[in-house]
Amino acid sequence: MAAVRVDLGERSYDIIVESGILTRVGQEIGGVCRGRSALIVTEPAVGALYSADVTKSLAGAGFQAFTAEVAGGEECKTLASAAALYDRLLDARIDRTGVLVTLGGGVVGDIGGFVAATYLRGIDFVQVPTTLLAQVDASVGGKVGVDLPRGKNLVGAFYQPKRVLIDPDVLATLPPREFTSGLAELIKHGIISDQELFDFVRSETEALRRLDRDVLQKAIVRSCEIKAAVVARDEKESGLRAVLNYGHTVGHGLEAATGFAKYLHGEAVSIGMVTAALIAQGMGRAPQGLAGEIAGALAAVGLPVAPAPDVDLDGVIRAMTFDKKVMFGKLRFVLPKRIGEVEVTDEVTEADVRSALAGQELGVRS
Ligand code: NAD
Repeated sequence: MAAVRVDLGERSYDIIVESGILTRVGQEIGGVCRGRSALIVTEPAVGALYSADVTKSLAGAGFQAFTAEVAGGEECKTLASAAALYDRLLDARIDRTGVLVTLGGGVVGDIGGFVAATYLRGIDFVQVPTTLLAQVDASVGGKVGVDLPRGKNLVGAFYQPKRVLIDPDVLATLPPREFTSGLAELIKHGIISDQELFDFVRSETEALRRLDRDVLQKAIVRSCEIKAAVVARDEKESGLRAVLNYGHTVGHGLEAATGFAKYLHGEAVSIGMVTAALIAQGMGRAPQGLAGEIAGALAAVGLPVAPAPDVDLDGVIRAMTFDKKVMFGKLRFVLPKRIGEVEVTDEVTEADVRSALAGQELGVRS
């Protein structure tokens, strides 16, 4: 068992990483939640596998537990799904002392957290993330929200959970492509602030891919520590937290330009991290060879490192300018300086991005 503290004054909480913790959710949250009624928010694929265990453990700890399912997938991260969850909370007569438990990937965590933040002006919530991406990224830091027809995550809040319970064992049922996508965010944490984590992933690639319990636990804990430390210093993204967006500017552009259908989030971020490294090299801000080193680590775990030939690069650039990370009309980029250190800059031009993307197309990586 390992606990990572997210230090945010009176909003501080623990992330507990432990094999089998899914069957002890009730015990783990009994002491941090005010009341004894709980709504588990999940989705069909995850609910079928795990909601019975969570319900049983909540009941065992004296909770009256209800379950609600959203449809699953990004398409269900809507205000309409949130409204259906408010109804479910009201039907179950859950009052201000109730707790909402999210059981699922980032979609369930984001929408469930948003409902918890807004129902009766905020009730307790606990995250039980079941994808690697949600375990190392989405469930940590309190960003919750839903999409609007005009863009992703356009409505939301910063709302911290009371606890995050991570059971690495649930990754055994995760589709392999989803697992690999989550590795992109884990490797990102190494690149932005920890050479040791980056090296660990490089040397333990095979063990990670076969879900070795100890290696997975170590990598998840370190990744959560890194994100927790950044969030503790800049909860509401007024500065430092932007480093977590490394790879995301081009990544979002790629996702949007391909209709959110071609790439999983982590896959797009993987390509975006290599693009950003090539940009840094092209601007003379990073040593030659850095992009190759980063691409090597990403490719070794099975992630894409360059846009597919059929991707419309003009479309990617157009989509990037609509991203939330554009401040005052300027593209804000996170560029790596070396493994373990990045910088945030608004000095990247469209030409820099174009030439890096074109280089990737040709397989230029060093
Ligand atoms: P997801 O929630 O859609 O889950 C991916 C797939 O895995 C789904 O099909 C789901 O049914 C399945 N699944 C989940 N756990 C499983 C398990 N243990 N076994 C079998 N199948 C399982 O996708 P995701 O990648 O976890 O999350 C993406 C979302 O996270 C996006 O909406 C993104 O905006 C959000 N996100 C939020 C933050 C944040 O800080 N709040 C950060 C990154 C991403």
